[in-house]
Amino acid sequence: MSKIVFDDKKSIDELLKTPDDGKGSITTFLKRQEAGLSPVSDEMRQAAADLKKMGEIWRKTLKRRRKLLYDNLALVLRHKEEILKTPRYANADASCALEGGGAYVGPLLTATGFRLAGMESKIRITLGTLLSDIWGNEAFQVPCGCGAVAYVREFAGSPLSGSGWVEAICPRCGRTHHEDCGGFGSRYFHVGHMIQKELETAARRFVEKWNQAEAELRNDKQKWSRPSPANYFDGEEEPCDLETLVNELRLKEIDAEANSELVERIRKIRREKDRGKGRRSPSGK
Ligand SMILES: [Zn+2]
Repeated sequence: MSKIVFDDKKSIDELLKTPDDGKGSITTFLKRQEAGLSPVSDEMRQAAADLKKMGEIWRKTLKRRRKLLYDNLALVLRHKEEILKTPRYANADASCALEGGGAYVGPLLTATGFRLAGMESKIRITLGTLLSDIWGNEAFQVPCGCGAVAYVREFAGSPLSGSGWVEAICPRCGRTHHEDCGGFGSRYFHVGHMIQKELETAARRFVEKWNQAEAELRNDKQKWSRPSPANYFDGEEEPCDLETLVNELRLKEIDAEANSELVERIRKIRREKDRGKGRRSPSGK
């Protein structure tokens, strides 16, 4: 049986007039206290501490991933067309690639979270968007002395004064450029616009996939025992991470090099054989 304790500093009439809004009622508070329950339980504190630790690990992962991307920038750019054509490469999370922020607008956001029908979803700048829509934009390019184009990886400034600073890296000579230049607002808002575009693409693809699943359900003559479009909703291939992408591109280049060496060796053997035949044929006939 539960026990209700009243605060006897107040009269019973006064307490009964107090609106019971659930959260703040004195009876609720006192019942909790009696039962030894705190508004924040030990389990909730543990969950918050675990989330904090996971956040720290994630920040370290992003830092390491960013270094990996820029250490292998030339490799990634050599395979740009293939990346754009391959969904699991193009959809890889590249939110670590850009950093920065500015006065009045705060830090640059390269990822955003939202809830859809109770599910948590994350939208991040993908590698495809980085390579085509962001680095393809002149505001994210700096000409390098070696003749190549350096790509902006960090920028700061003010959208009001228009002043700005960029850090860019050249994939050919590896030089890091630090330049004072304008155009902060155009860079900052372009990245924001790209996240909106990623969200629109994800929403559109979801609707397309669902419509496709409904159509397949209608066409299927052998219906499932419990027919539902969800039985046909297979989603998409999971994008790979940057670590896998870089490894696969390295392997492709090694294989291509080994194949071209093998082809060259075969050609050499054939040439030598042909020369041998040429020397033998006049005396042989
Ligand atoms: Zn250069």
